[in-house]
Amino acid sequence: MYEERFTPEHHQYRKSVREFCDREIVPHIEAFEHNELTPRSVFEKAGAAGFLGARFSEACGGSACDFWYSVIWAEELARTHCAGTAMGLLVQSDMATPVIGALGTEVHFEEFLRPALTGQKIAALGITEPGAGSDVAAIKTTARRDGDDYIIDGSKTYITNGTQADFITLAVKTKPDAQPNWSGISLILFPTDTPGFTVGRKLKKLGNHSSDTAELHFDGCRVPRRFLLGEENHGFIYIMRNFQGERLVGALTAAAGARRVWERTLEYGQQRFAFGKPISKYQVWRHQLVDMVTELDAGQLLAYRAADLYDRYLKDPKNAADPTREISQAKLYCAEMAQRVVDRCLQFHGGMGYMEEYFIARVYRDTRLISIGGGTSEIMKEIIAKWMGI
Ligand SMILES: Cc1cc2nc3c(=O)[nH]c(=O)nc-3n(C[C@H](O)[C@H](O)[C@H](O)COP(=O)(O)OP(=O)(O)OC[C@H]3O[C@@H](n4cnc5c(N)ncnc54)[C@H](O)[C@@H]3O)c2cc1C
Repeated sequence: MYEERFTPEHHQYRKSVREFCDREIVPHIEAFEHNELTPRSVFEKAGAAGFLGARFSEACGGSACDFWYSVIWAEELARTHCAGTAMGLLVQSDMATPVIGALGTEVHFEEFLRPALTGQKIAALGITEPGAGSDVAAIKTTARRDGDDYIIDGSKTYITNGTQADFITLAVKTKPDAQPNWSGISLILFPTDTPGFTVGRKLKKLGNHSSDTAELHFDGCRVPRRFLLGEENHGFIYIMRNFQGERLVGALTAAAGARRVWERTLEYGQQRFAFGKPISKYQVWRHQLVDMVTELDAGQLLAYRAADLYDRYLKDPKNAADPTREISQAKLYCAEMAQRVVDRCLQFHGGMGYMEEYFIARVYRDTRLISIGGGTSEIMKEIIAKWMGI
């Protein structure tokens, strides 16, 4: 499936990422989950290995690789079954920072992007607010001009990497009374050592425990106007474009994480005996395993089709087809499919599947996020319907 897209260099990269995951993540899952945090050292090591900046241009500190390197990075992180750590690292490499690479100035690169790509600074993406999630245009956090600065007031919630971020790619209203309301949004790079900024509650979650998720408050925070990304009041368009990479990564992690669950489930079923034979030999389970792998292949094909289109779009945005519909379809299908697959695989494990000491209980909780975060399944359907003119 799109195998021809992977060159020997890609395969070598996958090997390096897998070794990194096996060394720096997998042995520490219990500790990261218990502490509800992925330590800063993991970001630093990922940055030092070049994994955070693969897809960025050399001018902003990256390696100028194609998007298939991001595909590999996301898939291998997902296969660790440490979804919180995977999400924290992917926010750093594929959610909070690509928009800086696309629109940033030398000041932005020097101050924010290069240190993020080396893992020296941790990044967060601040869009969601207590009163506005799916409806991004309804955000209320404001940035008002004052001389050469902006003064920022408001709150964000559910922000990944929120307690330890050094900066936030922050969505604000620079024209609160703009009509339509989406036309008054801007993106500002916000250093978290700015006076007036506080981290509120660290939020307790159903899953993804190894990532820190927080409420953030901004009270008269003064940041220089040169930290504005792109043009003032064009932020909504930038956010929607940036969402494409985030959603695609969501689809890829869903499909790859669920496939790894399937592989581990098959291994379990071959060793677990009931009534004198391995449970994988019962026809009902053989058929379920086949149903699941068929869904996994379908999801991976949708995600790879979207990745192929997105890669072409990143290389030549003027002439390539817009991948929004295909990315939304991949996110929709993979998120829902992963939940079905993980649920059935848990059943396959019997009582063991329900034990916290076994990986699948954690994956079951973690997988529930994917149809919510980065745009819900319902919002994906709205986007697809719009693109199809339905
Ligand atoms: C663990 C976690 C990490 C997150 N990390 C971040 C982060 O780093 N940065 C960030 O900015 N955000 C983050 N989010 C927020 C996430 O993107 C939002 O939760 C998501 O976009 C949904 O917004 P909401 O929670 O406000 O739900 P709502 O928008 O209130 O939606 C509630 C329900 O209504 C449905 N709905 C809404 N509008 C429509 C419609 N038009 N048609 C049909 N149904 C509709 C939704 O699909 C959903 O089922 C995170 C969330 C979680 C849970």
